Amino acid sequence: MALPKTAFELFQVLEKSNCRECGEKTCLAFAGAVFLGQRKIHECPKLTPQTVERFAGEHDKENVQEQNPGDRLEKLKSEITHLDLAKAAERVSAKFSGNRLTLKVLGKDFSVDEKGNLTTEIHVNPWVAVPFLRYIINGQGLPVSGKWVSFRELRGGRDRCPLFQKRCEEPMKKVADVYTPLFDDIVHVFGGKQVAKQFESDISVVLHPLPKVPIMICYWLPEDGMDSSLHIFFDETADRNLDIGSVFNLGVGLAQMFTKIALRHGFDART
Ligand code: SF4
Repeated sequence: MALPKTAFELFQVLEKSNCRECGEKTCLAFAGAVFLGQRKIHECPKLTPQTVERFAGEHDKENVQEQNPGDRLEKLKSEITHLDLAKAAERVSAKFSGNRLTLKVLGKDFSVDEKGNLTTEIHVNPWVAVPFLRYIINGQGLPVSGKWVSFRELRGGRDRCPLFQKRCEEPMKKVADVYTPLFDDIVHVFGGKQVAKQFESDISVVLHPLPKVPIMICYWLPEDGMDSSLHIFFDETADRNLDIGSVFNLGVGLAQMFTKIALRHGFDART
């Protein structure tokens, strides 16, 4: 059998009883934590030694990358030094001047020079910096089509979709539920734009973590006993302008950032 390559494949080998003996609330949460290198597969006491042995070693090796975002960043910076940065700028429609490529990340200038040095008006977080560099190195630079699709519909999105809902859409919905100025912040602090309501939502905003990878957040208020809901949509070209792992990380990073902002204003959306 092929070794698991995604959190969902890891989830498939678990008991799915949500017994919490591993300390996580659900088996899905445990699978996600293992996939991101935060937990080890042997920490589920319900697995047979054969299952643990079958992929622990190999998967742990893969997770070394996930465990060290700083290392991943350094590796990508080194790849930049072998890249024709002027050509890359042309490909992704970025500015190139004085050996430096510059584009907008969440409305702010973000640059890299030919030695891989990053300069930015915002804090250099790996969840932004890694996708920024991957966008430059591998992005196809396709024009935004204007057709919105769910994460599941992107290439490689189906397997990661349950984890994306859990780590991105659910936490973001909790923030929107308790911290009502969230959408104003998205517009005024992160260069987002309120757009005509989509999919019969009550609020729709578009923001650009990367110029050709727009993200649309749609929020539905609670109504007639129904809970609120929040879904995130991507341009259908997102999986070619950026790898799916980076698309995932951008969504999760945004959710974490919004959670922190709400907390700073006294609204705890973590429970
Ligand atoms: S201990 Fe194993 S079976 Fe129980 S919740 Fe955790 S992952 Fe699921």
